[in-house]
Amino acid sequence: MQNTIKCYMCDRNAISYEHVPPKNLFPEQKDVEEDYRKDLITVPSCEIHNSSKSDDDEFLMVSIAGIFGNNSIGYLHKFTKVNRAIKRTSNRLLDKAFKKRNHYYLERDNKFLEIIWGTPDHKRLINCFEHIAYGLHCHHLKKRFKGEVKILLGYLHNEDESNHAFVQFLKDRAAIDLKDLPIYGANQDIFYYQFTAPDEHGIYMVHMRFYGGIDIYASFLPEDKPKPFNLAIELMKVCDETIFTLGDKEYRVINANKSEKLLRNLPEDS
Ligand SMILES: [Zn+2]
Repeated sequence: MQNTIKCYMCDRNAISYEHVPPKNLFPEQKDVEEDYRKDLITVPSCEIHNSSKSDDDEFLMVSIAGIFGNNSIGYLHKFTKVNRAIKRTSNRLLDKAFKKRNHYYLERDNKFLEIIWGTPDHKRLINCFEHIAYGLHCHHLKKRFKGEVKILLGYLHNEDESNHAFVQFLKDRAAIDLKDLPIYGANQDIFYYQFTAPDEHGIYMVHMRFYGGIDIYASFLPEDKPKPFNLAIELMKVCDETIFTLGDKEYRVINANKSEKLLRNLPEDS
């Protein structure tokens, strides 16, 4: 590789290419009939950002393949490759993916399903999706992103019920912005993405969908743009209850601090 090509995450020279999202999220042909590894996306990567990745890739695969809300391919992937990986490492992977037993909620068709088998390692999940967001930015917009990235895990809800309303509000809001935008990805049953145009603050977003049911949103605030004053967030800091409206729907968000934490991508227990 020419040494003039830069890493998708930093200013170092790239030494190799890596897949975004990780290749292991896409089922192998020996496990499924169809080829779900067509034209996978790769980005140039430096030594540091490449070598730290394989552990995280496996963590991500165990965390999101085969959970409630996935399409049948996601399930199949879970029962083949993911389970092989779990067996191979004698459940260490599961321990890593789920830090402690707790109650979390997954959303499917506007119903909340309680997960009883543990709490995902929230911080690490955010980190994994942040890398994917940087990778897609580099691939799609042909330049490395410099600035602040925020991740919203649209499929994960914690015990605080007010978060459900807040996440739902953000998702419904995003759905309006994304409705008519083109969808990219050669294996859309496994993964696709959409980019919005910058808004009046210069902020734009990528929506990532995995296995037909897992939605992740990453917003990009470029470093040369001033941080916008967000009235909704400021209100939530001081009010016990904030009501957002979107069309004829109303969203009641109680307990501002926790929702604010969610927006800043902080896990509850940190
Ligand atoms: Zn790098």
